[in-house]
Amino acid sequence: MSGIRPTGFLHLGNYFGAVRNYVRMQEEYECYFMVADLHSLTTHPDTKELKENVHRVLSENIACGLNPDKVALYCQSHVYETSELYLYLNMLAYKGELEKTVTFKDKVRQHPENVNAGLLTYPVLQTADIILHRASFVPVGKDQEQHLEMARNFVKRFNHRYGDVFPEPHAFNFGDELVKVPGLDGGGKMSKSENQYATIYLSDDDELIRKKVMKAKTDNGPAAPNSPRPDYIENIFGLMKLVSSTEVLNKFEMDYNNCSIRYGDMKKQLGADMVQFITPIREKAESIRNDSKYLKEVMEKGAAKARKSAKATMELVRQAMGLNYF
Ligand code: AMP
Repeated sequence: MSGIRPTGFLHLGNYFGAVRNYVRMQEEYECYFMVADLHSLTTHPDTKELKENVHRVLSENIACGLNPDKVALYCQSHVYETSELYLYLNMLAYKGELEKTVTFKDKVRQHPENVNAGLLTYPVLQTADIILHRASFVPVGKDQEQHLEMARNFVKRFNHRYGDVFPEPHAFNFGDELVKVPGLDGGGKMSKSENQYATIYLSDDDELIRKKVMKAKTDNGPAAPNSPRPDYIENIFGLMKLVSSTEVLNKFEMDYNNCSIRYGDMKKQLGADMVQFITPIREKAESIRNDSKYLKEVMEKGAAKARKSAKATMELVRQAMGLNYF
């Protein structure tokens, strides 16, 4: 189970941190993937663009290879059981631990004028999303590690108090470790709503992709053979590892190590490989986005699958909590 907020355009971080794993998981697991529209309300209360953004996230997920016939692909707000479970879990979550969450502290810094209770309890809602399907594996990027740890704590508390209903959820990735796709400016990470010029979006056109890559921070190159790579150079190699062939990567690694690297050539190559990677996704997403009848069918089918699973879980929850009075 996993989700993506409809707060903007999907980018390479979303793809390599999350969606790529969704696409592989759908072949082996029973999967639930949602557009986290309720979560987006914690930071984006204005809903004018919400519908368009929900359609966009759905289209981009499908264009990346997610198959709505294999998984439940749905909108969070269509599964009303989420809100009920969120309410129960809120009684097991403590103000102190929620205030210590890194993402909460970041958001408070960014938007001191909108520190709402939904923002504080974001990890509780996220736990409800996950355990509503009694999910064990949650494909997410590295930024979600702490939220998953909190989810396990809430689950342990629930199970301890009311009996074993939920498995403990773990962050999941097909590789060795969780992924963080850095921004092209050498700092931070690619992001939907911040850092726009350092982020490559799946909807960027070819020229914009090349332009953004060419602007990535570099320097004069290493002064001595086999020097350690500064963070911003390491980031460029990291991005190349994601979209370029092994031969290309090896060539530039060798060039770096023997001090003959030309960063202009490296960025040109990286730009071309990114364009090749993104163009088919962008074109497919665009055609899906224009088919609102198809998107409606996807959402309806997804919500029906998700609600079936949610309903079964909530019966167990109410039973375990002693909320059955007949
Ligand atoms: P969000 O964009 O915050 O709704 O996140 C959706 C998914 O994408 C989550 O699983 C995140 O962990 C993942 N994600 C977002 N940004 C990045 C990034 N720069 N690198 C890796 N994963 C990311």
